[in-house]
Amino acid sequence: MKLELERKSVWQIVDKKENDEIFAYGERYKNFLDSAKTERESCDFIIKKAIENGFISLEEAIKSEIKAGDKIYLNNKNKSAVLMIVGKDITEGMHIVGSHIDCPRLDLKQNPLYEDSEMAMFKTHYYGGIRKYQWPTIQLALHGFVVNSKGEKLNIIIGEDENDPIFYINDLLPHLGADQNKKTLAEGVTGESLNVIVGHSSFGIEDEKNPIKMSVLKYLNEKFGMIESDFQVAEFEIVPAAKARDVGFDRAMIAGHGHDDRICSYANLEAILEIKNPEITAVGLFVDKEEIGSVGNASMSAKFFENFVAEVLATRKNYSDILLRRAMAKSKVLSADVTAAIDPNHKEVMDDKNGAMSGFGVTMSKYTGARGKSGSNDANAEFIAELRDLFKENNVVWQTGELGKVDQGGGGTIAYILAEYGMEVVDMGTPMLSMHAPVELASKADAYMTKKAYKAFLG
Ligand code: MN
Ligand code: MN
Repeated sequence: MKLELERKSVWQIVDKKENDEIFAYGERYKNFLDSAKTERESCDFIIKKAIENGFISLEEAIKSEIKAGDKIYLNNKNKSAVLMIVGKDITEGMHIVGSHIDCPRLDLKQNPLYEDSEMAMFKTHYYGGIRKYQWPTIQLALHGFVVNSKGEKLNIIIGEDENDPIFYINDLLPHLGADQNKKTLAEGVTGESLNVIVGHSSFGIEDEKNPIKMSVLKYLNEKFGMIESDFQVAEFEIVPAAKARDVGFDRAMIAGHGHDDRICSYANLEAILEIKNPEITAVGLFVDKEEIGSVGNASMSAKFFENFVAEVLATRKNYSDILLRRAMAKSKVLSADVTAAIDPNHKEVMDDKNGAMSGFGVTMSKYTGARGKSGSNDANAEFIAELRDLFKENNVVWQTGELGKVDQGGGGTIAYILAEYGMEVVDMGTPMLSMHAPVELASKADAYMTKKAYKAFLG
């Protein structure tokens, strides 16, 4: 028996067959990243896959008594989703994997369009914890949902097709950077300076105060039937225009927008779609607004999942509130969110004995939080011990991690929200680099092991 903890890379453990599976999984995951760059697009992708795989809507499902083997989905506001496969008895608890499908990005303000210095610009308001200096001088795409004044609902994507134009935030030239250079990284680029160039030519527009702005409005009206006031009711997001790409000679990593948390969300989706007749009810949660503190009615704090379970239980003849409480309290949860991996360029912020290593597998964080574990869920040893056995049985390569050195900072997930019901919850997700950057980096081995872990847990 080995006395010492062995830490080993996934690449050193898997056989040829599983190595091939890692790369095949990477291709499917990249397709998800490219197809779903906003929470709405992710929700749409997830619901479509669920329907293809025999899931029926909650409304349809509750028309008769729900039984083991039923596959049910909920589309909550087109921004979050629940997929459930019913087991023997829901009141015995559920196995839940909870991930989020919103990502840090720039949103357009409600009155975004103006003209300055011969350019038409959009004003933005960033969403989530971004590092502002990372957003200028990269190629950007626009993803939006508009209900125009004619009442038409439009999904607009510009900048993803290679024949599309892209959008751009300019930055100072080094020659004139003397004052900016003296500022801190946090202050060098301000929120109000993250204005996106969306037009330049005034050709063909005469006698106008803002001909370039007018030219943009003319385009939007001809193409989408939009008028300027439609921005007031629209949701537009600015994301990098880049597709997810392999990184390195060996193609073993992926650079892409939104690994946090689509890498766990996609693992969650594939895992639950592959589960057949679980003993314990299996649930995949895909929620919105995690990056801004789980607020709003599409977030984990909203009661849509609790209501979903109540609706399912209410199809029984003997429904009472206590059944719902039991179902929730006896449940077990993997809070599916990313964590920081040790960055070879910035090792000083991590404890190398406890930080997650890229390529060492899916990562369990017993606690997150900041300072003295403030805001943390701090999972119970009994539950983690169960998972250890489960992962051993299923050859899941996993490691422990934490979000940086004790005094360095910290972060949170949706773990604490589900714990409020009495559920056993632990953070279990993919380690990654450059978290919250426009384009983030993760290992294909870790992405694959994340899915393998979720599948073993769900059933
Ligand atoms: Mn996250
Ligand atoms: Mn995050």
